[in-house]
Amino acid sequence: MERWDVVVIGGGLSGLTAAVYLAKQGLRTLVLEQSSRWGGRGATDEREGSLFNIGPHALSNQGQGRKILQELGLDPDAGEVVLGGRLVTQSGVHGLPVSALELLKTTAFSFREKIELARVMGKVSKAVPEASMQLTLAEWVEQNARHENVRKFLYALFRLGSYSNAPTRVSAGVCLRQFQVGGGGVRYLHGGWQAMVDSLADKARSAGAVLRTEQKVIAISGTHPEMKVVLADGREIATQHIVAAINPQVAHQLTGAVPNSHLAKVCKRLIPVLGAALDVSLRRLPDPNTDFALHLDRPYYYSNHSSVARLTRDDRHVVLHLFKYLSPDDTPDAARDRAELEGFLDLLQPGWKNEVITSRFLPRIAVTYGLQTVERVGSHEPENVVPDIPGLFLAGDWTVCDAMLADAAFVSGKETAQRILSVAIL
Ligand SMILES: Cc1cc2nc3c(=O)[nH]c(=O)nc-3n(C[C@H](O)[C@H](O)[C@H](O)COP(=O)(O)OP(=O)(O)OC[C@H]3O[C@@H](n4cnc5c(N)ncnc54)[C@H](O)[C@@H]3O)c2cc1C
Repeated sequence: MERWDVVVIGGGLSGLTAAVYLAKQGLRTLVLEQSSRWGGRGATDEREGSLFNIGPHALSNQGQGRKILQELGLDPDAGEVVLGGRLVTQSGVHGLPVSALELLKTTAFSFREKIELARVMGKVSKAVPEASMQLTLAEWVEQNARHENVRKFLYALFRLGSYSNAPTRVSAGVCLRQFQVGGGGVRYLHGGWQAMVDSLADKARSAGAVLRTEQKVIAISGTHPEMKVVLADGREIATQHIVAAINPQVAHQLTGAVPNSHLAKVCKRLIPVLGAALDVSLRRLPDPNTDFALHLDRPYYYSNHSSVARLTRDDRHVVLHLFKYLSPDDTPDAARDRAELEGFLDLLQPGWKNEVITSRFLPRIAVTYGLQTVERVGSHEPENVVPDIPGLFLAGDWTVCDAMLADAAFVSGKETAQRILSVAIL
């Protein structure tokens, strides 16, 4: 049986990040990925000359993910997103108020609403997030805004930053922190997120890690230092430590789905953040002046990612991402959600259907497996250890609360590696 110091299960951003830090310190590290390519939800698909990330993906300029990448000597080639666009309301399409001047000009709000919005936006930018960790977003918004339209706009902005549509559960402090991180700007990556993923995989290899695709893990057993990973083809691999950089339900299954175990409790507690994504490539944009839009009353997002990133073989083609932020209380209805997103696109880009090269609809994709609720944020237990299985560690965007989305995946990979390094006998 082959033997390793660490086996990392999952070759998404968190698993690859963990592998780089572990291998750099000399631990014999093996990464096993079930699919034929790296990146998980951060991967990119090529469709008829256009690159589709899995739904809309933007990297924060000032997020912890980019800092970790830079620490590893990586800075993905990207186009800077220029703020601005449209705000759709029941009364029509208006300017999106992203600056004081745009707020003055927009027809979406009354004069009184504009005054309140200007005041609240100042608060959002300057608030100390830690002071509002134990408030829900709905409580914070109700305390700080009186006009219904101002409240709706705040919800739209916080959906954009956090991808979540659960204001009565998500922590306000987490949303404020995410908004402030986003204030430093975001970037769409040239070549899609796959370019970043592949450079991270190369970094792991050059640090000495061994990376294997098409290796589905079906079971984990043992405890440190005698642990075992079983693959779908029946092979077994021995290791001292395991990093499960996969989703919590799969980690629970791999460990035998033991009722009342730590992972069983984690699975019960976590609320996934879900969305419906419509990815579209067009021969040309019917309205070239509309690159970005949000809806005030409905949880919709639209953005032309090829406005700043190189995503198409033919420069005239465009890649659009539309997204519906699903609420945990929504009844799933793929046909309804697709029709809603197509209707939103009809409004923004009339005639787009005549220009379609290809499209893809993902009806129910998990943006992250763990909504950062008030209860989760308030618990100070480390989320990357499994107390009842010494030697098993967790990584993934759902295992940390001090960052969100891909930033959380990078942070979790690094923190989990550091935790293993602090106990490993080199
Ligand atoms: C629609 C959408 C939009 C998003 N937009 C943004 C954004 O704008 N900005 C941002 O920062 N983040 C965004 N994210 C979040 C970001 O993509 C994720 O946080 C990040 O990619 C998660 O990485 P991960 O390593 O935690 O998990 P994953 O990417 O899920 O990686 C887990 C890996 O484990 C593998 N695996 C699972 N089971 C097994 C097994 N049994 N054996 C072997 N391998 C296994 C999977 O194949 C996968 O490759 C978005 C996500 C989605 C879905």
